[in-house]
Amino acid sequence: MYHRVTDKPGGTDDRTPAQFRAELERLASENYVPITAAEYVSGKIDIPAGTHPVVLTFDDSSPSQLTLDAMGTPQPNTAVGILLDVSKKHPGFRPVATFYVIRDMFGKFTPEERAQVLGWLRDNGFDIGNHTRDHLNLLGKSEKEVTEQIAAGQKLISDLDKKVQVHTLALPYGNQPRNKQWALHGSANGVRYDYQGVFLAGYTPAPSPFTKEFDPVGLPRIRSMDKKGDCVKFCSTAWLDELKEHPDERYTSDGNPTTVAFPKFKAPFVAKSVTTKALPY
Ligand SMILES: [Zn+2]
Repeated sequence: MYHRVTDKPGGTDDRTPAQFRAELERLASENYVPITAAEYVSGKIDIPAGTHPVVLTFDDSSPSQLTLDAMGTPQPNTAVGILLDVSKKHPGFRPVATFYVIRDMFGKFTPEERAQVLGWLRDNGFDIGNHTRDHLNLLGKSEKEVTEQIAAGQKLISDLDKKVQVHTLALPYGNQPRNKQWALHGSANGVRYDYQGVFLAGYTPAPSPFTKEFDPVGLPRIRSMDKKGDCVKFCSTAWLDELKEHPDERYTSDGNPTTVAFPKFKAPFVAKSVTTKALPY
């Protein structure tokens, strides 16, 4: 989970361009391959055998994530510019990610400029998700308030670009509404939403979508940060170290998106829906 990628980090969520680049380089060198949140929740994990999926998500649609020049080329020091560059150096490292957008649409104010940025993301294989329109805390809110905010976020996206398909939502501050299902399905003011996954803001690796543990109403994410302060254990550097030390805890692709291969010993944890594609070994 990334927020801003900036030379002047303002808070505990921001990363500098150098830190962001170093983390992508580490992921590439440890055989992680990016997939989108939409691919993850639908179990479409089409990456080479022996590699591990990673979902890169960006919250709050800030200009530090994507700013295009007058010809529609991403500025090199934005998150997208850096991701494209790292991917060029590591050809197996797919340049894909999911952007959870809100009303501050990459710092653009006119509908035309906003549509340019969303259209660029869609045209280039990036995934766009809903982060609600106004980024309000949904904790303890009524069903009406919750569904209105989510539907308004959905409308914000589809009014700008009708071709964008939104498959997932990231909850502001990671806070779930009183009824967790309100975040997944609902409608307000004539706008209906039906998502396949809702993401939180903390702080463990997400389970394989083929396990019983996978719960679409509350999918964990890991904050990108070094091992310091409250990130000694539960942010990206710590988790990457942990997963490197315990490779059996990682999802490793069998290279075939139509099968789910797993050690027989793990069979009790496999979701019932997997049976037809299951390949225990
Ligand atoms: Zn946010």
